[in-house]
Amino acid sequence: MLDIKVMASGSRGNCYLVGDGKSRLLLDAGISYPKIQEGCQWQAADVDGCLITHCHKDHSLSVNELSRRGVKVYGPPDLQRQGLLAIPIKPMQKVPLGTFDATPFKAVHDVECYGYHIRSLVTGETLIYLTDSAEVCYTFKNIDYWLIEANHSVEILDRKVAEGLDPTRANRTIATHMGLEKLEKYFSGLDCSMAREIYLIHLSDDNSDEEEFKRRIQRVTGAAVTVA
Ligand SMILES: [Zn+2]
Ligand SMILES: [Zn+2]
Repeated sequence: MLDIKVMASGSRGNCYLVGDGKSRLLLDAGISYPKIQEGCQWQAADVDGCLITHCHKDHSLSVNELSRRGVKVYGPPDLQRQGLLAIPIKPMQKVPLGTFDATPFKAVHDVECYGYHIRSLVTGETLIYLTDSAEVCYTFKNIDYWLIEANHSVEILDRKVAEGLDPTRANRTIATHMGLEKLEKYFSGLDCSMAREIYLIHLSDDNSDEEEFKRRIQRVTGAAVTVA
């Protein structure tokens, strides 16, 4: 079984630690280095790699610090253009990280952004990591773990607009982040019978409802759902 630890999730920072008993991976590094250190039991520099989704600070804050300490940090070429010390990789380019391999795929955001298909050679299990993406552009089969964005619900946003929220802002959120309704639709067309656990991540403080999100995704997938 994979060991998944949520260090931070949401617009204030994102960082996850995934282990398979032999290797450990960081998914995004959008919190301070001391916080990453704490989450890694003071052995952050010993992780087998770090995968970054995109350049926004809530995902990339500690890229340079990790890199300087010898951690191999990978991500879309845009990171380098933004002055971040990350190794650029292309979509569908498989990267070995200890006993894991990771394959990036395109996400839909307002900057170049990747999701990752991750496989452990130790447990044989697979994980999808996708955040800050308005769409899931691929049909993934036989996935054991999902760390996937459920940022807002369109229903809540509509209500907020009726109460005075700028509709341009609401539309921007819908165009750049994954909403509950879309995710529900995606999962309803997918066989999730082998999913061990689905983590709903990057929930918006204002435009989400933890309990409802959990219940609805559980209903449509039949899987164990955790809200990060
Ligand atoms: Zn974000
Ligand atoms: Zn973002």
